[in-house]
Amino acid sequence: MHLARFPRVRLAHLPTPLEPLPRLSEALGIDLWIKRDDCTGLAGGGNKTRKLEFLLGDALEQGADTLVTQGAVQSNHVRQTAAAAAAHGLKCDIILEARTGSTANDYLNNGNVLLDRLFGATLRTVPRDTDMVAELKTTAEEVRARGGRPYVIPGGGSNAIGALGYVDCAREIVVQADELDLPVDHIVTATGSAGTHAGLVAGLAVMGADIPVLGIGVRAPKARQEANVLKLAHQTAALLGRPDAVTPQMVVADCDYVGEGYGLVDEAVIEALKLAARTDAILLDPVYTGKAMKGLIALAKSGRFQGETVVFLHTGGAQGLFGYQGELEGAL
Ligand SMILES: *Cc1c(COP(=O)(O)O)cnc(C)c1O
Repeated sequence: MHLARFPRVRLAHLPTPLEPLPRLSEALGIDLWIKRDDCTGLAGGGNKTRKLEFLLGDALEQGADTLVTQGAVQSNHVRQTAAAAAAHGLKCDIILEARTGSTANDYLNNGNVLLDRLFGATLRTVPRDTDMVAELKTTAEEVRARGGRPYVIPGGGSNAIGALGYVDCAREIVVQADELDLPVDHIVTATGSAGTHAGLVAGLAVMGADIPVLGIGVRAPKARQEANVLKLAHQTAALLGRPDAVTPQMVVADCDYVGEGYGLVDEAVIEALKLAARTDAILLDPVYTGKAMKGLIALAKSGRFQGETVVFLHTGGAQGLFGYQGELEGAL
């Protein structure tokens, strides 16, 4: 594994800290640490920045002048892509899917959307359940028709090139844990478009680190999520020249904490946001890390991580809180 062989543009503040969570650990009765990928820096940080380092590297090598991508209205991936484009003088064409059905003004215009506009991205919104892959294609054709050179980034930046960012994060976690003399029993992360989870699994497998990763689903049911992650982890390991490194047993997702659906908050998510904020002053987000923490809290209380050292990967997203004022008001 030698990541310097891949084109890369430096966008993130790395390494992100690996820190203890003393008060949350005490509340949950486990030894809990946090990998601060909410502190990657670009546009307020988050996990998409690591992926974008390799995706933008590839885009620039191909001579692109426009990044084209898609996401839900309050997409953190879109915010970070818009920022990466701005920082390198590229245009950015975005398709937003009205996936949650929210018509609240703050959902449609505040939080990530406000920042997308500030970075100068061109935004177009389509109804929920639109074929977003087809939308990416037509948008790329439009860019070409106006004389531009598009580079299409899939939702969440989740292909094998993007997942290299989380191969690098896996390496970073192992190096930091070794420096701290910290034997890690589990890494827990939110898992959505699968690139983060797949990159971690592929990176750990190629290194032979033997640290299990638990992905907590935010959208798809378990069978589909695990299949998506496994496929992408295989592709990522193959890109690293180790096509046989990943086995199906390495890919585990728990999708029991999605609640009513993607981007829809419930009481347990709000409790998780409050607990993280009021123990160790950690800002989680309503769509991903809040749901992952909802799952982690429930699993810890059921004894799942008894006696273990667990690293929670904070994938960012707190900017999205400002799209959810209505849901949170009254619950705080
Ligand atoms: C996109 C995102 C995730 C999920 O990562 P995937 O690579 O899409 O699975 C988790 N947390 C936050 C804050 C995100 O924006």
